[in-house]
Amino acid sequence: MRCYAVSFSLAFCLLVGTASAAAPPVLTPQQTKARELLAKIISYKSAVGPDETPALAEYLAGEFRSAGFKEEDLLLERYKDTAYLVVRYRGQPKPGHKAQPPILLLSHLDVVPALREHWKRDPFQLDEANGFFYGRGTLDVKSGVAVLTLLFQRLKQEHFVPTRDLVVVFSGDEETTGETTQELLTKHRDWVDAEYALNTDAGGGTLAPDGTARSYNIQTAEKTYASYKLSVYNTGGHSSRPRQDNAIYELADALKAVQAYRFPVMWSDTTLGYFKAMGATTAGPVGAAMQAFAAKPQDAAAAEVLWNDPNYVGPTRTTCIPTLLRGGHAENALPQQASATINCRLFPGVKPDEVQQTLQSLVGKAVEVTVLGDPHYSEGSPLRADVMAAVTAAVHARFPGIPLIPIQESGATDGIFYRAAGIPTYGISEIFIRPQDQFAHGLDERIPVQSYYDGLDHWYRIVKTLAGR
Ligand SMILES: [Zn+2]
Repeated sequence: MRCYAVSFSLAFCLLVGTASAAAPPVLTPQQTKARELLAKIISYKSAVGPDETPALAEYLAGEFRSAGFKEEDLLLERYKDTAYLVVRYRGQPKPGHKAQPPILLLSHLDVVPALREHWKRDPFQLDEANGFFYGRGTLDVKSGVAVLTLLFQRLKQEHFVPTRDLVVVFSGDEETTGETTQELLTKHRDWVDAEYALNTDAGGGTLAPDGTARSYNIQTAEKTYASYKLSVYNTGGHSSRPRQDNAIYELADALKAVQAYRFPVMWSDTTLGYFKAMGATTAGPVGAAMQAFAAKPQDAAAAEVLWNDPNYVGPTRTTCIPTLLRGGHAENALPQQASATINCRLFPGVKPDEVQQTLQSLVGKAVEVTVLGDPHYSEGSPLRADVMAAVTAAVHARFPGIPLIPIQESGATDGIFYRAAGIPTYGISEIFIRPQDQFAHGLDERIPVQSYYDGLDHWYRIVKTLAGR
């Protein structure tokens, strides 16, 4: 058995450890409260359909009020069927220092729907078994909501006065449209204007199959997603009178032009840091290419190796690939129309209309290139030394010496909206989990119990380092 309390003396750990294997772990008062709060938050069906997100936001507002937060520092707004909650923890600069902009602490209240009949257990009732907490949202990301709520309660109880405002932001539709975050950034910019944001909804630690800590990811950037339609039109005709101007041929030529093109290699301090760390533990030519790329991203041979590996091409450039194809209307007719969907993953900083222009120049004027939907644009966030140091210290307090790896993911979280609005955002989840235990959005979503309890100190340490006196 493992000792649950970080602050327990070793002697007490050993004492507990020698008790019968069936004995329940002894929880500290803080852990008991953390367990109860997580259970309560999980019990709200804050998914599209029953949408109990407004009720959850109300409940949490009550938690903050009872911890001593004043009405003027709470923003609770309904938005369509959902709601969002913002809580300001007022800071005070050190004597003789200028006021600094706030730090945001992000999470989201909504979850992906979960059907009772598909689950072995009630997805909206916290269940503890085999060292895991089970329930919809345990991982994505009600544990984050709970740890941030507990963090503010604990800091208030300790009469902590940060050197700058800390602002907890719980959005209400991260899993669907992200509109609550976009509304916050436009309508309530004064509430969420900040120097940077720390996000519970990304990053986090990886455990090896035997449960030992392997590495920790800090998410600093997300590729964005954009789809384009290539369309070719033709007058058509009878297939017994064939002509060389043919919508399907022209679309095929356009697709071959897209296939032959490679978007330019791009990099950031995050992707170079990522390839350096990954290269150190990856064998063979791919590992060597990672190290070469990290040392010199202009190394064309290294980029070529990574281009050919679907696992690693993503962090090296914008990519586009055809995913859907349509054309013609009858077996014996010349096609009047042919079209293809091209799905692209944009490197941070690349705008959707730039990719549209590139595609248009590749396929020529005869092919129409249109943007599908309303793709987003996002910047990457620079690796801030102060954030990196604070996160490294918190991670190493739990797992000394493990590598910290900056990552750029194929998003998206609410982070893309903050980054697009000029607020650098860092995904620094407190959870350590084995890849095979990750069931976010799926059945039997779970988190290791130990990781959740230890995560309370993760956020506490980071915030005290970044905004302490
Ligand atoms: Zn999430």
